[in-house]
Amino acid sequence: MTDGPTYGFDTLQIHAGARPDPATGARQTPIYQTTAYVFRDADHAAALFNLQEVGYIYSRLTNPTVAVLQERIATLEGGVGAVCCSSGHAAQIMALFPLMGPGKNIIASTRLYGGTVTQFSQTIKRFGWECKFVDFDDLDAVRAAVDENTRAIFGEAIANPGGYIMDVRAVADVADEAGVPLIIDNTSATPYLCRPIEHGATLVVHSTTKYLTGNGTVTGGCVVDSGTFDWSANDKFPSLSQPEPAYHGLKFHETFGNLAFTFHGIAIGLRDLGMTMNPQAAHYTLMGTETLSLRMERHVENARKVAKWLEDDDRIDHVTYAGLESSPYFERVKTVCPKGAGALFTVAVKGGYDACIKLVNALEIFSHVANLGDTRSLIIHSASTTHRQLSAEQQEAAGAGPSVVRISIGTEDADDLIADLDQALSKAAS
Ligand SMILES: *Cc1c(COP(=O)(O)O)cnc(C)c1O
Repeated sequence: MTDGPTYGFDTLQIHAGARPDPATGARQTPIYQTTAYVFRDADHAAALFNLQEVGYIYSRLTNPTVAVLQERIATLEGGVGAVCCSSGHAAQIMALFPLMGPGKNIIASTRLYGGTVTQFSQTIKRFGWECKFVDFDDLDAVRAAVDENTRAIFGEAIANPGGYIMDVRAVADVADEAGVPLIIDNTSATPYLCRPIEHGATLVVHSTTKYLTGNGTVTGGCVVDSGTFDWSANDKFPSLSQPEPAYHGLKFHETFGNLAFTFHGIAIGLRDLGMTMNPQAAHYTLMGTETLSLRMERHVENARKVAKWLEDDDRIDHVTYAGLESSPYFERVKTVCPKGAGALFTVAVKGGYDACIKLVNALEIFSHVANLGDTRSLIIHSASTTHRQLSAEQQEAAGAGPSVVRISIGTEDADDLIADLDQALSKAAS
């Protein structure tokens, strides 16, 4: 199928990137379970290795099943290209790698997935990279944090877990002034609820482990490029604008234009870092994307019902869900993610830490797991698990203090979810 701009989201989530298998006519995308690809002849092989011709060499770099998923996610996000990788955390490193170097820094929102806070505050230091965490509602603070070594600004459209909605356009304007790309982690929103590129983002990263796959089966990640950033406007991004010694002095931006970031991601990132998505994982995620909009509609509808019921319950202190009128971000939802505020929120339980632990133990439909974005409803006490490595201040800033649980609402019957929470809250209060 040709991906014309006339097709709607529901059509593209099924067809984008896919075509009947040229060898067999197979309608569903085959799982190309192969490591290597036969070259037509020695000249063909040389052209591929010189990046003069696009094709398949070795599955650490490219694989036809993974390529379909890359094109599909790029299309759904409105980008020009995408690179899939082995996990969401791999996608974050793959997004930063071409931009960064020793002594360079990024500016990130204080409201992020717990694992990302750890990756950015601890692990990237070993590469000589630094991260400054700033409250993204304070645009002057974001502006003030930019210095001559800043190479990117990073935030989540719908931030996990605190029910925070980022004003993507406002931060994109700050990134533009600073001449650096804005990277948006769109995992919690998905392109069905939010399309960050339309709000000025340069790059979009995903943990495809979550809603894009949807059933809690495989880990994966993706980096989507908008194709809009001028990597040669200044000397900040030499990996993309300057000669690459590993390819006989080829300049990625000059040679590949708006696909420079994507080609660099494959030809350098996957080749040398090796954070490759395998074709089985791509298959599961392709299955998931086919029903993305249908699932997200139900996730949002259920989340609204359950969050409202919890907010009105005496045993609950408060609920941070941007889909509730009580949320300070209720108005922002209308511009950033007009189809809904997602299906993740935190609930502060009266009775604090102990009540949270009892609640988690007493639930029957909800699973106590470190995951989100599954068809199944999930719950976790962040302070004792995912956010355990964070300081008390970092936990509070991330909306993951000791008296809150994080809930990921699935696509079951909302009434059953409410009944389950009702019985478990009674046990937690006793
Ligand atoms: C899960 C998650 C990640 C990390 O993804 P993995 O696939 O687990 O590596 C990053 N950001 C967000 C918002 C997530 O939910």
